Amino acid sequence: MRFGRIAHPEGMCFAVIEGEGESQVAKEIKETPFTKPEFTGRSWPIAEVKLLAPMLPSKICAIGRNYADHVAEVFKKSADALPPTLFLKPPTAVVGPGAAIKIPDFATRVEFEGELALIVGRPCKNVKAENWKDVILGYTVINDVSSRDLQFSDGQWSRAKGIDTFCPLGPWIETDLDVLDLEDLPIKAHLTHNGTTETKQDSNSSQMIMSVGEIVEFISASMTLLPGDVISTGSPAGTAEMVPGDHIEIEIPGLGRLGNPVERA
Ligand code: MG
Repeated sequence: MRFGRIAHPEGMCFAVIEGEGESQVAKEIKETPFTKPEFTGRSWPIAEVKLLAPMLPSKICAIGRNYADHVAEVFKKSADALPPTLFLKPPTAVVGPGAAIKIPDFATRVEFEGELALIVGRPCKNVKAENWKDVILGYTVINDVSSRDLQFSDGQWSRAKGIDTFCPLGPWIETDLDVLDLEDLPIKAHLTHNGTTETKQDSNSSQMIMSVGEIVEFISASMTLLPGDVISTGSPAGTAEMVPGDHIEIEIPGLGRLGNPVERA
């Protein structure tokens, strides 16, 4: 099932998203995706609502350096020499599909990172890798926007990856955890610059160093995960610079496309 969060003509709500393409509809639910959905009876064609970020998390736990091809491209080292690491993005960085990524003037090299994200479904701590499906509500797409210049000059990654609007999330949460083949999941990023669209990231989860289960075990060993928290699983190779005027779209087949324009803050 797909859960979105929408702005409709009379307010905002969580909704179940059904259908494909132009025949897609958003069906309002009474509460949240954390309980069995009860429909209110109201629904809208997708074109009449605005999809918002599908969740407002208490934190975004992100794994860095989790794809061997990306470690080689950005850090110029082998993944053996530089293992995966954990960092946090603030919830204030989250924006939804179609919202602008706004680049401040002190960020001089801002890159997209298309990634698979997990949405936590219940409070949990010390989860074993094999039990990850017990605590995860679903998947969505994330763009871990990163100011590469600040990432390296600061040492800490908080500013580089925590700037307002640097965490596009969506378009919805897919709660069927078996819908994706996590061993063979394509991840793509399509960048439109000066009217020309190029596929910059075209990789696969087969490049992942820590598996999804290992990531959940690794993070939850340190910190309590809360319902709605986002876990970003790392970016494959192909990240590249975006500048104001560009449009970036992250695509994970089976989950959908997350597109955002790029503007000057
Ligand atoms: Mg990343």
